[in-house]
Amino acid sequence: MVNLAELERFYKFKNIQSGCPTCGRSSWVLADAPDAQTTWSLASVREDGNAVFPSPSVPVIAMVCGHCFTLRTHASLPIREWLKANRT
Ligand SMILES: [Zn+2]
Repeated sequence: MVNLAELERFYKFKNIQSGCPTCGRSSWVLADAPDAQTTWSLASVREDGNAVFPSPSVPVIAMVCGHCFTLRTHASLPIREWLKANRT
């Protein structure tokens, strides 16, 4: 899991703007994962309507704008690797 302080450190190092693309405010809230062993992900779906299980997916860090509720996601695996390689 990536916490908000770690994400802020990543943003600062990478010079990522933290403003919401919809409302411009910076009041992001990390979307809590369902539990300590589970993370959010973007799941794939088949265009023909058939299900694939397990479906290929991309684990993400999900944030919600505290003002307009826009969702923002980052691929979590490369950020976790960056955090491991760039400990403070
Ligand atoms: Zn917003």
